[in-house]
Amino acid sequence: LSTSRTLWDLVARRAGLTPDRPVFLQGDRTLTFGGLRARAERVAAGLYGMGVRPGTVVAWQLPTRIETAVLSFALARLGAVQSPVIPFYRDREVGFALRESRAEFFAVPGVWRGFDHTEMARRLGAKGIFEAYDGDGLPDGDPAVLPAPPAEGTSVRWIYWTSGTTSDPKGVLHTDRSLIAGGSCLAHALRLTADDVGSMAFPYAHIAGPDYTVMLLLYGFPAVMFEQFALPDALPEYRRHGVTVAGGSTAFYSMFLAEQRKQPGAPVIPSLRLLAGGGAPKPPEVYHAVVREMGVQLTHGYGMTEVPMITMGAPDDTVENLATTEGRPPEGMEIRIADGGEVRLRGEAVCQGYLDPAQSATAFDEDGFLRTGDLGRVTATGHLVLTGRLKDVIIRKGENISAKEIEDLLAAHPAVAEAAVVGLPDPERGELVCAVVEQPPGAAVLTLPEAVSYLRAEGLSVHKLPERLEVVDALPRNETLRKVLKYKLRERFSGTPAPEGPAA
Ligand code: ATP
Ligand code: MG
Repeated sequence: LSTSRTLWDLVARRAGLTPDRPVFLQGDRTLTFGGLRARAERVAAGLYGMGVRPGTVVAWQLPTRIETAVLSFALARLGAVQSPVIPFYRDREVGFALRESRAEFFAVPGVWRGFDHTEMARRLGAKGIFEAYDGDGLPDGDPAVLPAPPAEGTSVRWIYWTSGTTSDPKGVLHTDRSLIAGGSCLAHALRLTADDVGSMAFPYAHIAGPDYTVMLLLYGFPAVMFEQFALPDALPEYRRHGVTVAGGSTAFYSMFLAEQRKQPGAPVIPSLRLLAGGGAPKPPEVYHAVVREMGVQLTHGYGMTEVPMITMGAPDDTVENLATTEGRPPEGMEIRIADGGEVRLRGEAVCQGYLDPAQSATAFDEDGFLRTGDLGRVTATGHLVLTGRLKDVIIRKGENISAKEIEDLLAAHPAVAEAAVVGLPDPERGELVCAVVEQPPGAAVLTLPEAVSYLRAEGLSVHKLPERLEVVDALPRNETLRKVLKYKLRERFSGTPAPEGPAA
């Protein structure tokens, strides 16, 4: 099935093999593979009746529901270009996405969680607004009217938006083939089978949505969908459906651990055997704590909107590799480490470029490798170790300091739940090192001298020691993967005087 030319081709082939097996489980509702094909065809016919044609740009800002997947596959059936927008986004990001993508239609959930999306769409001057969840309101029609499904999967049919961690979000161009390639890699790395039960705890509008769905289509197993993820509410669902593989981003591991610590010894989800995730750094102790306390395996991977699956830990890899690396690239993914340490990628799962031609012009190097902006190295066994981001290197007195190295050490301190280290402008040193920490409940307040003596004892070289420490109630995070937004920390702490002198 991984040779399917288009996503629709993949759905049709899977629906032919196991039409009655479930693909999505949500609350008391179930959609089967056959149902996905049949419903998506009807919705495609409805969209066709509204004027959506192959190549028409349709943006959608819909929560993680079975209907959203149906609409997305209906667009794939038509060969339209779809641009998913994260449901928590508001005027600024949504307006940007609509303008940049020149969407001709915009599907919204109506009023969702107290917010009127239709009203926002009007305010933004969106064209072709329709409420996909007006009751059971997906467009509907007789599939007999439909033209043939797209024959090839190599033209741009997806515009995804990067998280905007380092600057404005970038529109990333994907094809059906690049998404299928990404999903196949994930499936292969995780070594799942048709007996597994997965879960989608991230927004379906994130690129992980189709990537994960490709995996379901390849193997023919279902996933439990969560419209708004909160672990305490999700636990009964995980248990009821016998979820075997759960996960999301790094933040999820800590949530699971916190639950586990409320009932040590008894598994939080008895059926669970694997936590899998990625998208943000994972401190090694988190790996060890999950495996030791929860009794499940943890595999972590590296991905980005431009290349949803780059490397992934394999469940049967060594403890050392699983704890300290991002795993290996799948077959077909070439990794090159450029001078200066930048990770560069080439392969079928890599995007076509950016919506903005100026960004595309510099995105690839002379050999066609994508510049990721991430720093890393490849070990003797071919495992990737990420060491930070190009934009996340702090340059103090001309010395390059990796924020990640300090963060990993701080994360192992008992009074630290999570740490983010940023460079702040400093007239004499260029930048100074500022550590911002979130503490676990009940921990004594961490001070700069304490943090510094701890980091020294851990062997951090003197020139990297933080000069400033800020304790915050909560690190600023994005809504999608709960990633820490460092630019907000820089904004917040730049300009205000350091409370104490230099530490070192
Ligand atoms: P923008 O490109 O708009 O600044 P972004 O890069 O954060 O935002 P995403 O595409 O959502 O947007 O995130 C991809 C980035 O996340 C990667 O380039 C990398 O820096 C980081 N990342 C992903 N997986 C990991 C991981 N396993 N460990 C560390 N960092 C990771
Ligand atoms: Mg990026």
